[in-house]
Amino acid sequence: MRDTLVLNASFEPLSTVSLNRAVVLVLQDKAVVEAAHPELRMRGAAVDLPVPRVIRLLRFVRVPFRRQAPWSRRGVLVRDRHRCAYCGHRATTVDHVVPRSRGGGDTWLNTVASCAADNHRKADRTPAQAQMPLLFEPFVPTPSEAMLLALGADSRAGLPDWLPELPAVA
Ligand SMILES: [Zn+2]
Repeated sequence: MRDTLVLNASFEPLSTVSLNRAVVLVLQDKAVVEAAHPELRMRGAAVDLPVPRVIRLLRFVRVPFRRQAPWSRRGVLVRDRHRCAYCGHRATTVDHVVPRSRGGGDTWLNTVASCAADNHRKADRTPAQAQMPLLFEPFVPTPSEAMLLALGADSRAGLPDWLPELPAVA
């Protein structure tokens, strides 16, 4: 089951939480369901709720200003839509553009999604050395983008259309 997107009272994406946590927030009257899975309902002894995909907090939460989303392997894969940056096929691994052995770090701009074969083929080389040009440039997602990306590229359908657009991946 996917995570649920949490919006601030101001409708700004804030974070994602587990489905259980989302349901607790709704049952405690701390949040309302803004978008739900069309077919699914949660039924229990005292509960009959649509399964929330997006909830909105009823009280505005002040969040410290964050300039960029924290890096994660999963984040890179969803940012790149599980497309290999070298061949365009399905990616299951994360490649360091500048290899870690050459000082390349775990950063949004230095990592791309890669299929296992290309990751293995590129090995300890830069794209230029390996003659494997990138099909697209890695970018740094904003925190909002990263949260929307975390919902899954294929799960946009059915989300409210006032949500910010996802960044385009060429
Ligand atoms: Zn590939």
